[in-house]
Amino acid sequence: MQTAHACVKCGACKWVCPTYPFKEEEGSFARGRLALAEAVLEGKLEPTNEVLARWSECALCRRCEWVCPNGVDYKEVLTNARALSTDPLADGALKALKLMHGTVGRLALKAAGLLALPLPSHVRLPLPTGSSKSFPKPRPDAFSLRGKTFKPKGKPKARLLFFTGCMIDAFYTHTGKSVIKVLTRAGYELVVPKELTCCGAPHLYHGRKKLFNELKEQNLKAFSRYEFDAFLVACPTCGGALKEDYGLEKEVYSFTELVAKENLSFKGDESVTVHVPCHYYTAFKKNPEYFYEALKKVKGVKVRRAENDRSCCGFAGLFSVKNPELSEGIQRNKLEDLKKVDARVVVTECPGCVLQLKEGCSKFAKGMRAEHLADYLAKRLVK
Ligand code: SF4
Ligand code: SF4
Repeated sequence: MQTAHACVKCGACKWVCPTYPFKEEEGSFARGRLALAEAVLEGKLEPTNEVLARWSECALCRRCEWVCPNGVDYKEVLTNARALSTDPLADGALKALKLMHGTVGRLALKAAGLLALPLPSHVRLPLPTGSSKSFPKPRPDAFSLRGKTFKPKGKPKARLLFFTGCMIDAFYTHTGKSVIKVLTRAGYELVVPKELTCCGAPHLYHGRKKLFNELKEQNLKAFSRYEFDAFLVACPTCGGALKEDYGLEKEVYSFTELVAKENLSFKGDESVTVHVPCHYYTAFKKNPEYFYEALKKVKGVKVRRAENDRSCCGFAGLFSVKNPELSEGIQRNKLEDLKKVDARVVVTECPGCVLQLKEGCSKFAKGMRAEHLADYLAKRLVK
C-alpha cells in the first residue's frame, strides 16, 4: 500500500485542483491534504475538525493524480484518512444508496416517482447545511431496465453487461433507454442484471471500505450468473470502480468509447460543446478524445471545444451536499468556460455531471442546455 511519503512536494497538483482557487491555502489542494493525512495516520497529529474539513473539501476528482509526476496514489491515502472520520450525514446517505436497491427501496422510489409526476424534472431541496440544491426527481419507471435483455436486429456482435448505476436506475432511466437504443443499433446485445446494486464508489471514496466490499461482493455474484463478453457503463465513476477496484478480467467500455468506435450515423443542426467528466480520464482512464470522435458522426453539428473541457463541474456526489458553496463556485467556473464557445448544448457522459451542468446552465448560462451524450444521440440516430 502506498503512503503519502511518495509525494515529493513539487506542487504540480495545485494548478489542476478545482478547490485550490477558493482558499489558496496549502490544505486546499492535494499536497497539503496528503501532508495532513500522513501526520494523522502516523499519530503525529489529531484529526481535529479543522483537519477533517480539509479532507471533506476535496472533490476526489483525482485530477491531482492525473498530473502527479511521482504517481502518488492520492485516492488510497485520502480514503484511508477519511476512514478516521465519523460523519452521520454521509453515512446516512451512503446507507440509503445501498437500501435503494432492495425490493422495498425500489418500490418506494417508483411510488415517489409517480407522486412527483407533476413536478419539474429537477427540484430544489433544502440541505442540512442551510443551503439548497437541485435534485432530479425519481422516475415512475425507476429500475425498469433491470432483469431484461435488449437484442439488436440480426446476430449480435457481442453481449455486454450494462451496469446501469444508481443515478440511471432511479433518476435517469430515460438515459439508460437511450444507451440501449444507440448500442443495439450498433449491433450489441445488452443485458441488465436484476440483482445489481450500487457500484460502491461513493462508499469507497468516503473511506467506508467495509460497505464498499459488501456491495462489490453482491455485484460480483450478480455478474457470475450471466454469460457476456464485456461490461458497459454510462457513468465514469461506476466505470472507474469496476475497472480499478473490482479485479475484473473482462474489459469495461464506456458508452462514448463504443460510439466513437462504431459505424453509426446521426443528424443534428446545433452547436455542441463537451464536458469531459474528471473520472472519465482519472479513475476510468479513458481517452477524452472519444467524445470528439463520437460527435464527428453527427452530420450537421458544429462542435466547439471549450478551453477547459476537462475541468471539474463541482458535483462529486456528497461533496456538493457537504460543500454547497465550494461546489457552486466550481460550477460557476465551469459554466464561464463553456459559455465562451457559445454553444447551444453541452454533452457529457455522467448522470451526476448532467445534474450539475443543468443546474449550472439555469444559473450561469441561460440559453445553453446540458444532456447526457446518450440522450443527445438517441434523438438524432439516422434511421
Ligand atoms: S503533484 Fe504529486 S508529488 Fe507533486 S505535490 Fe502533488 S501529490 Fe505531491
Ligand atoms: S482530488 Fe481533486 S479536489 Fe481533491 S486534491 Fe486532488 S485535484 Fe484537488
